[in-house]
Amino acid sequence: MDPFGRHIDYLRVSVTDRCNERCLYCMPKGYKGWAGHSDHLTADEIVRIIDQSTTLGFRKFRLTGGEPLVRKDIVEIARRVWELPGVQTLGISTNGVLLKDLAVPLKQAGVRSVNISLDALDADIYRKLTGGRLDAALDGIGAAKAAGFEVVKLNCVLLRGVNDDQIPALVKFGAALGMPVRFIELMPLAPGGPVDERHFMSITEAMARLAEHGPLEPAHDKPHGHGPARYYKFRGAHVGFIGSITCADFCKDCNKLRLTADGKLRPCLGRHGEIDLMPALRGEGASVTDALHEAIANKPENHAFADDFQVNRPMTAIGG
Ligand code: SAM
Ligand code: SF4
Repeated sequence: MDPFGRHIDYLRVSVTDRCNERCLYCMPKGYKGWAGHSDHLTADEIVRIIDQSTTLGFRKFRLTGGEPLVRKDIVEIARRVWELPGVQTLGISTNGVLLKDLAVPLKQAGVRSVNISLDALDADIYRKLTGGRLDAALDGIGAAKAAGFEVVKLNCVLLRGVNDDQIPALVKFGAALGMPVRFIELMPLAPGGPVDERHFMSITEAMARLAEHGPLEPAHDKPHGHGPARYYKFRGAHVGFIGSITCADFCKDCNKLRLTADGKLRPCLGRHGEIDLMPALRGEGASVTDALHEAIANKPENHAFADDFQVNRPMTAIGG
């Protein structure tokens, strides 16, 4: 339990800060602050941290980045994590671009759920937003469907004037594949980039936009696990809305810690505090479990995005 009575059992592990796309909301233009490869946690270190965390009751794990699939040993990492006795669920977050060839190996390695970023179905908008190719992402989504993961969700960051006309098409696309789409409010995590508060669109407005195309009704169950999304039903499909900025109780049920690719535990995405695990990994000072205890004890009640939060490293370097 953290100081606010939340049971922390979810660790999101960034395996790299590098990426093969350049999303406007995630990576500031010209960003060059990559950690050196030697600063990235090794597969052994990642497995050791996760193993230690299970002794504290962590059960749910997600591999992320940056783009986790650019890491050459990602399948090995997934397999070794899944083989750990305390691991109950293992997910991965990806832009999908490299999933065409990796979906089956990841499924065989033990990955249960895949979250895939898909911000537009229009190739020009997709390229403008991510710098990447829509067809590659769509191939990856098709491969995830064919591989038979338990859950595949699609994530779209809402950007006024950029992709807000894509909402109904994305919902229809996800529904046809049996993949819920989740719309996410823009968080201020790419300082100095071309995307700023003028592009912000609330989930309330996104819901209203979708409701112009048919009835949108609350889904009373929690259909897709214990996550931050509120789910609605639209023409038989589930649609999620993640109100990171506008939902007053957004942090109330937060159950996670983040681990950055350079070995820092981050109790909250929207607060600067970090606890360095490197000394523990090298056998200097406190143990890994002590550091995890400290991170849980220092988990703040809520994020500070509303308090003129000045990000100290962009999303790609924290881990999504
Ligand atoms: N590369 C993978 C991907 O794109 O899914 C995993 C890492 S990415 C940082 C994880 C998630 O964070 C993605 O769904 C992405 O859209 C979201 N994200 C990144 N920057 C964000 C921002 N400024 N506000 C809201 N969500 C953001
Ligand atoms: Fe890369 Fe994912 Fe960030 Fe886009 S959101 S730049 S794909 S890490």
